[in-house]
Amino acid sequence: MHESHEHDEIRRAVRALCEEFPGEYWRAKDRERAYPGEFVDALTKAGFLAALIPVEYGGSGLKLDAAAVIMEEIQAAGCNGAAAHAQMYVMNTLLRYGSEEQKQRYLPGIAAGELRLQAFGVSEPTSGTDTLSLKTRAVRDGDEYVVNGQKIWTSRAEHSDLMALLVRTTPREEVAKKTEGLSLLLVDMREVSGLTIKPIRTMMNHSTTEVFFDDMRVPASALIGEEGQGFRYILSGMNAERILIAAECIGDAKWFIEKATDYAKERGVFGRPIGKNQGIQFPIARCYAQMRAAELMVHHAAKVYDQGGNAGSEANMAKMLASEASWAAADMCVQTHGGFGFAEEYDVERKFREARLYTVAPISTNLILSYLAEHVLGLPRSY
Ligand SMILES: Cc1cc2nc3c(=O)[nH]c(=O)nc-3n(C[C@H](O)[C@H](O)[C@H](O)COP(=O)(O)OP(=O)(O)OC[C@H]3O[C@@H](n4cnc5c(N)ncnc54)[C@H](O)[C@@H]3O)c2cc1C
Repeated sequence: MHESHEHDEIRRAVRALCEEFPGEYWRAKDRERAYPGEFVDALTKAGFLAALIPVEYGGSGLKLDAAAVIMEEIQAAGCNGAAAHAQMYVMNTLLRYGSEEQKQRYLPGIAAGELRLQAFGVSEPTSGTDTLSLKTRAVRDGDEYVVNGQKIWTSRAEHSDLMALLVRTTPREEVAKKTEGLSLLLVDMREVSGLTIKPIRTMMNHSTTEVFFDDMRVPASALIGEEGQGFRYILSGMNAERILIAAECIGDAKWFIEKATDYAKERGVFGRPIGKNQGIQFPIARCYAQMRAAELMVHHAAKVYDQGGNAGSEANMAKMLASEASWAAADMCVQTHGGFGFAEEYDVERKFREARLYTVAPISTNLILSYLAEHVLGLPRSY
């Protein structure tokens, strides 16, 4: 099914690792809403989660396109990379904007698997997609920041040592440009007090949480880059995030298409395989074409990003098209399986629930369309 031969070795290695984690493993974790720690440990030990860390800090120094291949293969093998993907995309922000001291301090430990950077705290209950109206406040006090406020949907916070946290350091009314006044802190959650994490039970197994900050003191050295510029840093990091998530969606779409194709060949009804009916074939073929088109945009977006260009519109389009392709394939796969699409043991219903997330998070389709309308097509600003 893979037409591109680039990164074949990475694909094979990821596949081999994923074979150790079959459907039964994921079903058990799903049932308990348990974190797939063994899987994340195996990925870490094999060095996959250090793909983007430069060689001088102990990683493999690969580019985003290779990281995207890793995430795609995990999903295509029926596993769930959501347990670990943040380490890849938060990494980009640290690499681009972190100080040399911060990189020396954290990257070798992350590369060696001793430290986990899996949490990214941006969303808040009252601000929603409107990130610039976030309320979590950090006030400088000597050589510390004192943080108060709340985040929501901070995934994997319970399973991470470090959290990249977006806070307001200057009140909105006092900044010259509305995109200023937010700052990014790299919080070592092992060292702070005043931090409470509460799990949120969701439709799928995602280890997401609410996080409360009550006079949490963080050393000023946790600041990434310049104070007040955090929004700019996360926007750049978000392009990497969108491309990696889009690659995961392509992997999911491949899994659904392969699963449906295999089932259509073997399931006999009316004395012949259901796959003989064009009513079954065409939806699978359509999903394949949709996935391949989205895949081209994901590769293109990764290329623009890796060449240092502004990948904003490509990353957004890749994320939108790939999440729509995976969701269409998920729906098609259930339909192809008939009643068995609802039975746990086929893994289709689990992957269906998991795939539903990506037209909503990390950014919803409407906001991508709004970005394209305004920033690419020059239509009037809507909000
Ligand atoms: C399982 C899960 C894991 C997550 N993990 C993380 C994480 O690790 N870190 C983190 O920071 N966040 C995380 N999120 C949050 C996620 O990024 C947000 O849910 C997402 O960005 C949408 O924001 P919202 O839920 O506040 O929706 P809202 O902003 O309330 O929007 C609700 C709906 O209204 C639409 N809408 C809003 N404004 C407009 C407009 N102007 N025009 C048209 N439509 C509009 C949206 O498209 C959406 O469909 C996670 C969410 C989930 C569900």
